[in-house]
Amino acid sequence: MDHCGILMENGLPCDREVMNGEIYCIFHLPNKQGHQIEEFREAFNGLINNLREKKSELYDFSYFDIPIDLDLGETPTLIFNKAVIRGEINSKVNKEGFFETWLNKIDCQYTVFENKVNFSGVIFKDQVNFSGATFNDAVEFTGDRFEKEVDFSSTIFKGRVFFFENHYKEKASFHFAKFMEETKFVGQTFYKDTDFRFSVFDKDINFGHIIFGKDADYSQIKFNLAVRFYKIYCLGKMEFYSTDFFGGAVFLNYYPQTLVDFTESTFHEQFILKRGKRGLQGLPISDDQYDLKYPFLILQLATFKKPETVVISGFPLSKTSFICFVDYH
Ligand SMILES: [Zn+2]
Repeated sequence: MDHCGILMENGLPCDREVMNGEIYCIFHLPNKQGHQIEEFREAFNGLINNLREKKSELYDFSYFDIPIDLDLGETPTLIFNKAVIRGEINSKVNKEGFFETWLNKIDCQYTVFENKVNFSGVIFKDQVNFSGATFNDAVEFTGDRFEKEVDFSSTIFKGRVFFFENHYKEKASFHFAKFMEETKFVGQTFYKDTDFRFSVFDKDINFGHIIFGKDADYSQIKFNLAVRFYKIYCLGKMEFYSTDFFGGAVFLNYYPQTLVDFTESTFHEQFILKRGKRGLQGLPISDDQYDLKYPFLILQLATFKKPETVVISGFPLSKTSFICFVDYH
């Protein structure tokens, strides 16, 4: 029997046997059809049972072409690098809706998710890496706890994206990510730095009810439609250096505590920046943090294409730095 034609990350070929008349094994054969799908299901279940029996610390599904739905339970390290997952992914959610699933390290670099993905109610106990992955359908992360770094750098989200009520204990990176449909980040708590640099948002974006415990970097982003930031509390710097706001940019109940920097950013449409009066009810922060501070507001070399729509309130001029380009048409 010939061996499967896939070269693994370590440069060695996959040592499984090829399927009849094919050059790949059942796991690596792309675009499985008909009986091949059932054959895969059987082989995959067998593989998982085998790994469980051996108490394996690592489930390596690199380069797999997975035509079936996956239910994720408590697992050791999961590797889906460069895999194609054509079924849906559903984490197991308990009756209360939260924290049924515990995942250790999950590595999905350059993985392609063809179908809906729902990683809700998950405690990710180790690093989570989706860098370079492509989500071709909707993605939901609700009620998750990321105990270690999360990496969505260069990830492509082609469907709707919903991040709701999540906690990030370590750095969260979305740099160079591309969000092609409506995207919502609501009720997020980032304990460490957050990095959205160079990301691109094609549709309406909402960032609401968010606590940034450290710096949040939104530099060199392209917001191609409207973006709304509301009920935002940031203890570190909030940077929007050289970011393009092609649609309206609205910041309401906005409470950065140190510095907001819009240097060299361009506002093509409406720009509203308001601290607001209602404070931060609804955000899970302790009372002593309600001693809200006025941040420095930097608008140097920012360009306002529609200056008649600009409203800034609640930010004292003594801490504001202007040298702006106003583009009258
Ligand atoms: Zn193979």
